Amino acid sequence: MADREYGIETLCLHAGQLPDPVTGARVPPIYQTAAYVFDSADHAASLFNLQTFGNIYTRIMNPTNAVFEQRMAALEKGRAGVAVSSGMAAQLVALLTILQAGDHVVSAKTLYGGTHTQLAFNFRKLGIDATFVDSDVPDNFAAAITPRTKCLYVESIGNPASNLVDFEAVSEIAREHGLPLIVDNTFATPYLCRPFEFGADIVVHSATKFICGHGTSIGGVLVESGNFPWDNGNFPTMMEPSEGYHGIRFYETFGDFGYTMKARCEILRTFGPTLSPFNSFLFLQGLETLHVRMDRHVENAKVVAEFLENHSAVEWVSYPGLMSSPYFDLVQKYFPKGASAIMSFGIRGGVESCVRFIESVQFLSHLANLGDAKTLVVHPASTTHRQLDEEAQKAAGVQPNMIRISVGLETIEDILWDLDQALDASQKL
Ligand SMILES: *Cc1c(COP(=O)(O)O)cnc(C)c1O
Repeated sequence: MADREYGIETLCLHAGQLPDPVTGARVPPIYQTAAYVFDSADHAASLFNLQTFGNIYTRIMNPTNAVFEQRMAALEKGRAGVAVSSGMAAQLVALLTILQAGDHVVSAKTLYGGTHTQLAFNFRKLGIDATFVDSDVPDNFAAAITPRTKCLYVESIGNPASNLVDFEAVSEIAREHGLPLIVDNTFATPYLCRPFEFGADIVVHSATKFICGHGTSIGGVLVESGNFPWDNGNFPTMMEPSEGYHGIRFYETFGDFGYTMKARCEILRTFGPTLSPFNSFLFLQGLETLHVRMDRHVENAKVVAEFLENHSAVEWVSYPGLMSSPYFDLVQKYFPKGASAIMSFGIRGGVESCVRFIESVQFLSHLANLGDAKTLVVHPASTTHRQLDEEAQKAAGVQPNMIRISVGLETIEDILWDLDQALDASQKL
């Protein structure tokens, strides 16, 4: 594409792709192939040595996935990205690229349930441990850093409490300690917030959510900013010859996309969480309307939040876009186009009322997903955060009477109608 700074809407539709030079196909073809023919023995050898860029095997790279990776990197204004099979895999690959046994992560304690489990239990079994801090106070991150710490981890909008962090304050702490700040930007998408503009170094996404936009596919992606100084002494595995990949030195060889190459060649290649090119194709379709959908998601979410706040069956509403939210100032700074469309609220009457609410909704879908074009509701304490005990649930921002809603694109009056009749039913015990 011409050397011009395109707007985000144009990037949603075009970044990473030119019409297919062979067939003229306008839409990125689905390269449904496991492997790619080499030109010669020399060509094969230089591909394996990473001296020539090209396709070897779809576990490591695929042309359809490459369009998705480049489009996501462009949307985040990052340097490069790696597509993977799920949001969980995106975190796994992002973290394992820089962590090994003995290392430590400082994370916000308000996290997607699966992320908390991955860090607190699965990583601990690998010898990597995590400290979870209240991210409302940025200094908590500094206080938890030890000589073993390798990164800071936050969600741009916390799941499920929809809490925000002061990115600039946390990224300043990361910079002072020579550590990368990793941000899960799933709830915001790069249309509403680009964490690299506020000092983040690596962004991860569950592409399953708003990027896909239609609830059809599981996938994930990680993107690096290209700005982190991996030669600052804290990351010997970025500098030393890779035992797992022909003795290559990733930072020296690839510079501002060395982290991405290490993620691809060491972690994706050997652990194998590869994204299907068909899913990439669907994510690219989703991205084409990301900007239009996100604007409407936000518009509907604001109306729903105000409606809930004024409903007699509702005790509290947590949505950063509400004036009453303690995060309202951070929204103005970091989310000028709106704070996404996921909120939580407490129903009067506790768990039983929540069950009645869930069982009374008509077209709102009761399921464990978010960021779909359809409106979705779930009771986190009994589903997404069920693995945590009550104390850990509280720490993660999950209250027993809390419903999470991901506001969709249906007619707004219909969404309010369904909420209203289910809330009324929730009070008839
Ligand atoms: C859904 C989600 C994940 C996990 O993504 P999957 O695609 O389901 O593996 C991680 N982080 C956040 C914030 C999520 O909402």
